[in-house]
Amino acid sequence: MKIFAIGLNYMSHNIEMERMFEESDPVLFMKPDTALLKEGKPFFLPDFSEEIHYETEVVVRINRLGKNIEERFAHRYYNEVTVGIDFTARDIQRKQKEQGLPWEIAKGFDNSAAIGTFVPLSEFGGVDNIHFHLNINGEKVQEGNTREMIWNVDKIISYISRFFTLKIGDILFTGTPAGVGPVKIGDHLQGYIQHQKLLDFKVK
Ligand code: MG
Repeated sequence: MKIFAIGLNYMSHNIEMERMFEESDPVLFMKPDTALLKEGKPFFLPDFSEEIHYETEVVVRINRLGKNIEERFAHRYYNEVTVGIDFTARDIQRKQKEQGLPWEIAKGFDNSAAIGTFVPLSEFGGVDNIHFHLNINGEKVQEGNTREMIWNVDKIISYISRFFTLKIGDILFTGTPAGVGPVKIGDHLQGYIQHQKLLDFKVK
């Protein structure tokens, strides 16, 4: 099972990260299966970072085997969606970026890919106009809509499948909008798509 993730896919977040341009291709990275955090289990703050950030993202699950998928057929390869958190050790990521080094230790550590309950996409009439948000301790801290994506899900899937065979059960984090920020011990995270709460866990 593979976890794909897209960086810099919302201009509002690119601006907050001081990347005020669109890349010519999607920015793709991966997390190992040990990064998965699900079923409401708590996220334990790791000891190697002083700055763990949440990034709230729409997540889709691959439901067919595929390679070299044309964009116009990409919608056939997923039919469920949830909201997830791409946990990021921002201090480490900053250092890696400055030195031109890979991001894995900042992005792929244990439990860095929190996902909620998957629901059928048919409930939302497709993936390209989904509002999502994150509450921490009952306050809304981040929100976005998938229509603001620079590369939509079909484009991303077509792109990924040029390099990697997609398999049933692979999941895709589709990028975060503006509003990322730190988490601390005791925080209660609740993620929503539209008005449905699909993600609910605590930081310990
Ligand atoms: Mg992200």
